[in-house]
Amino acid sequence: MTIRTAIVGFGKIARDSHVPAIAANPAFSLAAVTSRRGDPGVGVPAFADFRDLLQAMPGRIDAVAICTPPDARHGIARQALDAGIAVLLEKPPATTLGEIQDLARLAESRGLTLHASWHSRHAPAVAPAAGLLQGARISRFRIDWCEDVRKWHPGQDWVWQAGGFGVFDTGINALSIATAILPDRLMLQSARLQVPADRQGPIAADLRFTAAAHEAHFNWRHTDGEIWRIAVETADGRRLALLDGGARLTVEDVEQALPPPREYPSIYAHFAELVAAGTCDVDIEPLRIVADAFLLGRRSPVAPFAWNGPC
Ligand code: NAP
Repeated sequence: MTIRTAIVGFGKIARDSHVPAIAANPAFSLAAVTSRRGDPGVGVPAFADFRDLLQAMPGRIDAVAICTPPDARHGIARQALDAGIAVLLEKPPATTLGEIQDLARLAESRGLTLHASWHSRHAPAVAPAAGLLQGARISRFRIDWCEDVRKWHPGQDWVWQAGGFGVFDTGINALSIATAILPDRLMLQSARLQVPADRQGPIAADLRFTAAAHEAHFNWRHTDGEIWRIAVETADGRRLALLDGGARLTVEDVEQALPPPREYPSIYAHFAELVAAGTCDVDIEPLRIVADAFLLGRRSPVAPFAWNGPC
């Protein structure tokens, strides 16, 4: 029998990545969706919200993929777990550490699957880079994650609201890779957050970690293409770079052969294993670093942001 899966929050990532990944994996079937904007037309029952879906389809949903903005996730995930349904959370898994810990405890206590997914960890360069860095001493580590918010988040006002993460909505992808490949735990030392005067979330952030020469730079005002790069140097002189968000890996500037990206199929393959085993996979490290940046960061007000304004 397939894992009958509902998608809650039918926006860009649901349509572009979750629907095809579910369709391509015989372990799953798409059973229903929710969207407050009406039926998105993917051939399954559509509901205005998750409560309506649960009432209309009791016992006919095994799992839910929650693809809303982060602030809606905790309430929806709790309803799902209360109904005995396995939960796949898009990243970031929640708006607060308290919320995700609450969900993890609830899932564990019920013997249900909760998976806080980090799609960037499934990029092809991540597992080889983690293998190459195993046990290494890192002498230099630098993230540059720069893109144009108007290109990648057009009209998504939620990214600017409290709990929307601002530039960390993207930067947390880099942190999810960093925390998967580095042998040592990243501890924040300082952060500078550039926050548009009329918004709650930062448009740029610079992080320094306690380990010497470990830093991260996130920038949503970068209009000349994208830079999604992580550069690592080890104490014995090796140099690695994960490029294009982890789609490419170089070692000593030499391109390494990697399989093509298949982040969401890989997420669903892992989720199927978790559901079959009735276990959880909830790693909060990327969210912990972002929370620390909001706790510790110095805020610098910058020019108000307009979707059609200058950078
Ligand atoms: P999006 O296009 O704005 O879609 C979000 C959807 O969630 C919208 O369809 C909206 O539905 C629904 N929604 C908003 N608030 C809700 C609420 N309170 N209750 C229920 N549904 C609600 O955003 P997205 O780009 O898909 O991103 C969603 C999440 O996926 C984010 O956390 C993001 O970080 C993550 N993600 C995005 C990408 C990407 O490339 N876009 C990649 C990886 C991960 P209505 O139709 O009901 O208004």
